[in-house]
Amino acid sequence: MSRIRVLCRHCGHVVVPGDAIDLLIWSDEPDPEPSYYSFRCTTCALRTVMLLDEPQLQLLLAHGARVRRYGAVRRQPSPSPALPPPQPGRPPLTHDDLLDLHLLLEQPDWWDHLLAAGEGRPRGAPGGQVS
Ligand SMILES: [Zn+2]
Repeated sequence: MSRIRVLCRHCGHVVVPGDAIDLLIWSDEPDPEPSYYSFRCTTCALRTVMLLDEPQLQLLLAHGARVRRYGAVRRQPSPSPALPPPQPGRPPLTHDDLLDLHLLLEQPDWWDHLLAAGEGRPRGAPGGQVS
């Protein structure tokens, strides 16, 4: 199996199997959007999502990355509701956060990951454990 060196947002450079990388390709031609690649780090298990350019696309395809298309959701004619303002002490929600959540929800053990992400926070605090 082909392996490739990628940059984990937590660990730095790591080596992952080529087929462990998802290529998220925008498939709605009249309304272009960026494409991304995504992988789960073999060291820390966190998922990293990065913008994808054409040379990276060709390289990752050659290493066996999987292509996934997105873009089926049509924009509403009315403006989207504004995101809620960030809570004090917390960073604002970004498009990368939403994409991470989308990918997480496709995993069969997504609930366990969410619970693990909330560990260490006081019960009842925003983002804390729910039982
Ligand atoms: Zn990592």
